Amino acid sequence: MLKTLFLLPVETQIFYSVLVFSWTVYLWEAYLSCRQRKIYRTTIHVPEELGKIMDPDTFEKSRLYQLDKSNFSFWSGLYSEIEGTLILLLGGIPFLWHFAGSVTARFGFGPDYEIIQSLVFLTLATLFGAVTGLPWSLYSTFVIEEKHGFNQQTLGFFLKDAVKKFAVTQCILLPVSSLLLYIIKIGGDYFFIYAWLFTLLVSLVLVTIYADYIAPLFDKFTPLPEGELKTAIEDMAKSISFPLTKLYVVEGSKRSSHSNAYFYGFFKNKRIVLFDTLLEDYSPLNSAGEPQSDTQSETESDPEETSSETKQKSKKKQGCNNAEILAVLGHELGHWKLGHTVKNIVISQMNSFLCFSLFAVLIGRTELFVAFGFTQSQPTLIGLMIIFQFIFSPYNELLSFCLTVLSRRFEFQADAFARGMGKASELYSALIKLNMDNLGFPVADWLFSMWHYSHPPLLERLRALGNVKQD
Ligand SMILES: [Zn+2]
Repeated sequence: MLKTLFLLPVETQIFYSVLVFSWTVYLWEAYLSCRQRKIYRTTIHVPEELGKIMDPDTFEKSRLYQLDKSNFSFWSGLYSEIEGTLILLLGGIPFLWHFAGSVTARFGFGPDYEIIQSLVFLTLATLFGAVTGLPWSLYSTFVIEEKHGFNQQTLGFFLKDAVKKFAVTQCILLPVSSLLLYIIKIGGDYFFIYAWLFTLLVSLVLVTIYADYIAPLFDKFTPLPEGELKTAIEDMAKSISFPLTKLYVVEGSKRSSHSNAYFYGFFKNKRIVLFDTLLEDYSPLNSAGEPQSDTQSETESDPEETSSETKQKSKKKQGCNNAEILAVLGHELGHWKLGHTVKNIVISQMNSFLCFSLFAVLIGRTELFVAFGFTQSQPTLIGLMIIFQFIFSPYNELLSFCLTVLSRRFEFQADAFARGMGKASELYSALIKLNMDNLGFPVADWLFSMWHYSHPPLLERLRALGNVKQD
């Protein structure tokens, strides 16, 4: 059996190895999710250890929410694995490439215009992805998130957002890809160094312009109003010499009532962004008359009245108080102070350099193209796709697992940093509140969480915070 496998042409071996590997990863992850679903299904009482921090009602809500999400991702994962397999088996990639060629030919650009053909190919491929992904994201937002009280979007907002996202992506993707392809074509022997430098430059430019020009296209950012919280955050930033220049609140509540905080920016120009849903006093979800209530769509009556009425019944106050927000930011700034951000950038750039170097070695191998149905031509864009996505996939899986492990270490370190600032007990209660607001389920299968969790499970974080509190 094994012997006949080796007798197959090398192209066939490559093709089926990619397919088998993809299904192996799929089945492994499906197995992990199955273990985790079993936990959701069977852990119906609050474990003793959690009794003090989680009430049975929230525990049950989060259990049902996570169970729904897990079932959904089973079906969406199965769909995308089958879709990907069919695309490969039926030769979808060469088909789309030739189709793109016939489109460009109609406009008078023959097969010599490879970059133009690549752009048409990319546009069609992303359009295909957007269209086939749409029903899934509609279902996730308007059925699952809606059912559990997180969705704040209207259908109109959602669709407008999707169109905008597609347009903005094309505006960035197309010029960047054409320049990259051009660099690879004219770069000579050391093209991979130039290509890597170019992608590095693009990511630096994107980070710089994202906050001022891209993010505001989607969300409203308002400076945090003067007051106690603002002064306290500025003082804290100063105390660890964090170069804070701007402090924003983003209207995350327009999309969803999940809450968060983050910082970004270069060198001496750092900004902090707080979701309005994180701020107890600021969150529109806590103010009366906010037209977000679940019943609004179901009843014809005045939304002002029904929402303030139902809120008292169904929605409890969400978000953290000022001391807790400071503790959350202490954690976030810990990531910066401990060099986690820089370390992540260095890792990703080293990885990108390594991948481009290997790409330079592999791009000349015609059997890789033949394996995926490109017998006549070896377009650079297709080479990038085959090598970065298919050939590197075992390496990508391994890398992403290592990064997840590293991320959990960083989270513990950032928690310890906030603890060092004397914020252990505030962070302790903030983590509990955020977990409740986001309906996180506090019990996890060890194998599932080891593979997927970028943040350590709640209990482990609380334990790490609590132990030192007692010192
Ligand atoms: Zn963190």
